[in-house]
Amino acid sequence: MTGMEVLVIGGGPAGVSAALEMARGGLNVTLCEQGPRLGGAIHRQPDDPARRLRVPRAQRRRWRTLAEALSMSPVEILCRHMFAGVEGSGAVLLEDRASGRIVTRRPAALVLALGGVERVTPVPGWQLPGVVTVGGLQVMMKSTGRAPEGDILIAGSGPLLLAVAAQLTALGKAPVAVLERSTGPLSLRAVAGLIRAPAYLWEAAGYLSRLIRAGIRLQRGASVRSIAPAGNRLSVTIVDNIGLERRLVVDRVALHDGLLPNGNGTAAAPAGPFTVLAGDCREVLGGVAAIADGRLAGQAVLAKLGLAGSDSAGSAATLQHERRTQSALNTLFDYSGGDAAQLPDDTVICRCEGRTLGQLRALLAADDRVSAREIKLNGRFAMGACQGRFCAEWVAAYVASQRDGQPPQVAEIVGSRWPVKPVSVSAFVERHPSSPSE
Ligand SMILES: Cc1cc2nc3c(=O)[nH]c(=O)nc-3n(C[C@H](O)[C@H](O)[C@H](O)COP(=O)(O)OP(=O)(O)OC[C@H]3O[C@@H](n4cnc5c(N)ncnc54)[C@H](O)[C@@H]3O)c2cc1C
Repeated sequence: MTGMEVLVIGGGPAGVSAALEMARGGLNVTLCEQGPRLGGAIHRQPDDPARRLRVPRAQRRRWRTLAEALSMSPVEILCRHMFAGVEGSGAVLLEDRASGRIVTRRPAALVLALGGVERVTPVPGWQLPGVVTVGGLQVMMKSTGRAPEGDILIAGSGPLLLAVAAQLTALGKAPVAVLERSTGPLSLRAVAGLIRAPAYLWEAAGYLSRLIRAGIRLQRGASVRSIAPAGNRLSVTIVDNIGLERRLVVDRVALHDGLLPNGNGTAAAPAGPFTVLAGDCREVLGGVAAIADGRLAGQAVLAKLGLAGSDSAGSAATLQHERRTQSALNTLFDYSGGDAAQLPDDTVICRCEGRTLGQLRALLAADDRVSAREIKLNGRFAMGACQGRFCAEWVAAYVASQRDGQPPQVAEIVGSRWPVKPVSVSAFVERHPSSPSE
């Protein structure tokens, strides 16, 4: 051991892999996870181990390997510790959620492995109770081992739709339909990508066969146009690729339009420690890539601190392979979210603050050069509790579509400051130093 302390934020595959790499290299590693258990999005562990959701065997094996290595390593694990940012002095702030206090650390290096966030395209009515994200639905199922009550419609675009529909079906709660927006045919590129990655092909075949056997309606080229209350239920207007509309009444709608890197807290802090991003928060490439990327992040830290890491060539090759595969697979999906010009003014864009598209249009009409900061501070977009997690990217793309060539950057709309997530004032008042240097 060198005695040098490093901090890893995020207990998913990227964070665990980075922590292991740095511990092997002789660093004193602390791994912080905001949730109650390690695992991240893909390997989320259940509240009750007896109620574990069935996941593909290769996925299960990957996590078992990481978890076993971690249990034999000297890595210090802090669950229920949320990274709240790097303050002006360069100290890393963690909220200890059990004690409700802020803890400060001054590590020699910081690895941020914060994962990805879901992209959900606004449609009229998406703010209604009963409308969730597909990933949110999966979190609930993985945590509790149970499916929600009532009829569920899954819609949007991406492979997660099929995975979650199959998981619901395995729990005896098959969705009423799965609507994939994309109309794109199976391109040669996608076929080549799938052949290069038989594990994905195998996984997709498993999901599809379960859904087909359960008689679930899978429709390509169809999307949700709007959602309205229907008594205690939701009336969903669905449009297909030739413009035909139909209505479906369900209890829940789960929406999803792909994944984006989680940028909440990843902006460089001038006085902060040497920082490396790893996994989905750097580039969304899936679970296999996250492990390789975590290893590379660990190696970057070791190199910076003058220590030897393992050979990076294998991890770099894995990353490159996964990048090519994901890019081929992405041709099967349509993450554009449809035509924003067709959305009515009363469509809610920022669900936290209830800000509508009409209000955004009015802001742009009043001043077509309105700055990214004004969009946030005057328009109150990305101003709510989630700090733009769901709306900032959409708002930036919409503003760009209204003015040729001058898109505001998502990071400019969101801004960078600490705490990166809401933290109570009492947590700061009670703040206690944890590092000897504080
Ligand atoms: C909702 C969702 C569901 C997914 N489901 C699947 C699936 O079924 N199959 C599949 O192949 N891929 C799935 N993916 C993609 C898959 O998660 C990733 O490819 C892979 O898990 C990325 O690993 P990671 O370590 O980079 O991030 P993650 O696994 O997402 O891990 C990030 C971790 O960081 C923690 N974290 C975030 N912010 C903070 C903070 N401020 N402080 C402390 N901790 C923090 C999170 O709680 C999380 O545990 C899903 C992604 C998402 C977002």
